[in-house]
Amino acid sequence: MAANKGRAKKQAGAQLIKAVLVLMAALAIFVLEKTGVLQTAAGDKPAAENADAEVDFIDVGQGDSTLVCSDGKYMLIDTGDRDGENTLINHLKERGVKKLDYLVLTHPHADHIGEAAEIVEGFKIGKIIMPRVPDDLTPTSSVYEDLLDAAADKGLKIRAARNESFELGEISVQTYAAEGEYSNLNDYSVVLRLTHGENSFLITGDCEKQEESELLERGCDVSADVLKVGHHGSDTSSTSQWLKEVGAQYAVISCGADNKYGHPDEETYSRICKYVKNVYVTAEDGSLAFESDGKGLTVKPFDTADAAKGGK
Ligand SMILES: [Zn+2]
Repeated sequence: MAANKGRAKKQAGAQLIKAVLVLMAALAIFVLEKTGVLQTAAGDKPAAENADAEVDFIDVGQGDSTLVCSDGKYMLIDTGDRDGENTLINHLKERGVKKLDYLVLTHPHADHIGEAAEIVEGFKIGKIIMPRVPDDLTPTSSVYEDLLDAAADKGLKIRAARNESFELGEISVQTYAAEGEYSNLNDYSVVLRLTHGENSFLITGDCEKQEESELLERGCDVSADVLKVGHHGSDTSSTSQWLKEVGAQYAVISCGADNKYGHPDEETYSRICKYVKNVYVTAEDGSLAFESDGKGLTVKPFDTADAAKGGK
């Protein structure tokens, strides 16, 4: 009996030590998260040491906006919806942006072009790229009309997206334009694949299943370390085949807290988690800054990133 009691005591002691160790590990992870570096788990890319390219997924509420910076060059992909608080414009100012070399609007829905007119008015703009869409899908919204007016006032032509590649500082950009005929504007989203050394990003606008399968059938290279999930994590997008082909280690879902669309869809979110190890949602994680040195990749909340560096 006594021996049994002793063993039980010993076992309880070992369990207590185990529990304390687990608690300490959890605390260490919590501290790491709070201090800025979100991911350093085994199997991830090593951390970027001297980042010379940054990709920010900006928390613009229910909408999309991604800023790409490299070597003093900037590309803005989508502008979120109309926003009285100027979240996007403030973000661009914090990054020190004076000129956007490229303004890519993945498709002309308000949650992607809401602030486009203001951006065109407030910044120097190199090229504006938008998808060509059928007449019956061309929007008549005021945000779209305002954008056309702002571009015309500055003498800027809007260029139709095509399958092409160009350089942005040290980043190579490949754009894919849909070639099929669709009944939904989302499936005309310009999809962009960015590569910086060994790191790659896929930005998909509101691309839905039909466009996903078109791109796969065309043999487009959609592989990426970081995926900006299509259509705010809706069940219209992110098929298993798509997620498998992309093969991302990081996924970002851009949506607003408690949005009326129920984004991200629960089942879609679980599917994404099955294929991607690190999944972020801007509604919970806020704006995220991915930093790349061409080999390593670091993700931080934007407010702890070195914003002043502005892609150098
Ligand atoms: Zn959208």
